[in-house]
Amino acid sequence: MSRIDLHLHTTHSDGSLPPVQVVLLAQKARVTALAITDHDITSGIPEAMTAGAALGVEVIPGVEISSFDGQNELHILGYCMDWKDEQFNRRLATLRQSRHRRNPLIIERLRAEGLDVTYGEVKTLAGTEAVGRPHIAQLLMQKKYVNSAKEAFDRYLAEGKPAYVARELPPPSEAIDWIKNAGGVAVLAHPTWAKKSEGDLRVCVTGLKDAGLGGIEVHYSTHTKSQTSTYLNLARELGLLITGGSDFHGLTKPDIAVGTGRGGLTVNPDLLDPLKNAAARV
Ligand code: AMP
Ligand code: ZN
Ligand code: FE
Ligand code: FE
Repeated sequence: MSRIDLHLHTTHSDGSLPPVQVVLLAQKARVTALAITDHDITSGIPEAMTAGAALGVEVIPGVEISSFDGQNELHILGYCMDWKDEQFNRRLATLRQSRHRRNPLIIERLRAEGLDVTYGEVKTLAGTEAVGRPHIAQLLMQKKYVNSAKEAFDRYLAEGKPAYVARELPPPSEAIDWIKNAGGVAVLAHPTWAKKSEGDLRVCVTGLKDAGLGGIEVHYSTHTKSQTSTYLNLARELGLLITGGSDFHGLTKPDIAVGTGRGGLTVNPDLLDPLKNAAARV
């Protein structure tokens, strides 16, 4: 069965494989169209497009922006925007700067825990401006302080753990505005991560729709059947687009595969045209 995958990370942010390799894995998984949605950066898109043209896989411009609604972190995906737009890229650059302000504080805390790590080592390993906690997790794996990225998050990096430091994040309405101003469609990523009750989520998404949200990521690697149907009903009720993707990262999420997630994911290619049409109307 053919499928699409609209949520993929590469070495341009915190994924462990370069765009070309991700497109190759997509082709093997019979993915007909994909979006690279690196955190706060668009630099992986042209490489993916070149690879996609060579391998016969359609590549849609994408991005993922973390935001904070006052209670929870919400990730906003952007699709089909003009990814070369100067103002859009300047705005993303300010988000990457907030990463560089936070990350050294995480490193200080790890050092206080007795771990021999420096931010220089993290930046070298990352090889990109969009440095994230998964890069720090990779360094801890390399140095044998932990056996997996999951262990790095569970012991040190996750919220509530000793090396957790919050990042300054824009409100979701701002992330949505940036994407729309660049001609794209904004989509709420993995609603399950929002950690809200069904009622609170409905209120939240209704507000986001008023702020310009265009869709919900209904299909996602770790969504249960019941979560998927809840989000599907919410999208239908509010007249929002339905999208889906794996959130493939490579090494830091070794159980998630391109196209198929944990094995059961299939995002229907029919979801793509409505998304493109919505972007054309922005
Ligand atoms: P950051 O953007 O630097 O705050 O890092 C957040 C990213 O870390 C998320 O987008 C996930 O990709 C990843 N992440 C968060 N929690 C975990 C976890 N428990 N295990 C592996 N990766 C995680
Ligand atoms: Zn990530
Ligand atoms: Fe996310
Ligand atoms: Fe993601």
